[in-house]
Amino acid sequence: MSVTVDPDHTSKSAVAPTVAEAPFNNPKYADIILRTSNNVDFMVLKSILCQASPVFETTFSLPQGDTIDSESLLPVVAVTEDDKVIDTILRICYPVPNPQLDPIILTATLETGRKYEMSAVTQHGSDSLKALVDEEPVHAYSIACMFRFKDQALAAAKSSLRFPIVEILAQSHHLDHLTGQAVSSLVMYHVKCRDVSLSAVQQVVKPASPAWFWSYQHISRGGCTAPVNSAYGPAQKWFMDYAAGLTQGFHERPLLTGPLEFKERMVSAFLMDSTAACMTCLMSAITDINRFFTALHRTIQEGHDNVTLEFKST
Ligand SMILES: [Zn+2]
Repeated sequence: MSVTVDPDHTSKSAVAPTVAEAPFNNPKYADIILRTSNNVDFMVLKSILCQASPVFETTFSLPQGDTIDSESLLPVVAVTEDDKVIDTILRICYPVPNPQLDPIILTATLETGRKYEMSAVTQHGSDSLKALVDEEPVHAYSIACMFRFKDQALAAAKSSLRFPIVEILAQSHHLDHLTGQAVSSLVMYHVKCRDVSLSAVQQVVKPASPAWFWSYQHISRGGCTAPVNSAYGPAQKWFMDYAAGLTQGFHERPLLTGPLEFKERMVSAFLMDSTAACMTCLMSAITDINRFFTALHRTIQEGHDNVTLEFKST
């Protein structure tokens, strides 16, 4: 691959080029100019570009065009990228702090890094993607698939489990860039994780040792509702209702938004029930509710860790 040189662009254009910001504005520390598609001149050192990119190395080994900047007298090479992208990739390659990559510039930066085979740009782009995984998992998944970052694709898919699949599929502006296979992988991942979460509930509500306080009646005090047999084993009514809601929640999305949300619901379901009048129930509630959530959280996490995401790396 070679740098696309646009002959019309390198010739004298109607508008004089502007000079890029420091450190790319000093002809003393430059031996070539990269002129961007929007007519901004970056004064750079060929040696740095050659070290960062085999594509630039090849380009500079070929005879250059004869466009010379009249002021700095440096040879000019036109590139097809705009100044924002060129500034970003140069800062990654130069000994200056790496720029922050927001989602808008991230894709363009990764594309340019791929085009010029700049491993430092790809690495920084891949690292920046990690920040997007929590904030915008579908967007992150789409970028990870486009650039074949398997680990980030899995992390993004995992993070997307907090959202219903219908909400994810509605984000077509991100999914449009993906192959049908990549979209289908995400859907299948959701389905498998949902099943894991549902079976985790079944597993955790089974009679435990020591027994859950909601699964037997306490003889010491009145006010304790007698448990009845249910899909969740012997359970007081408030727990059956709560567990049904939890199951319903997992049908909608495979991961608890925050375990706290469901924990609070469980505490209030219990307190609103007359069961709370029983001292044994009251005394056991905090311990058992914590124990229940620790077990549920661990079972779900371990289950989800075993779910694989089909990922085509080529
Ligand atoms: Zn009780």
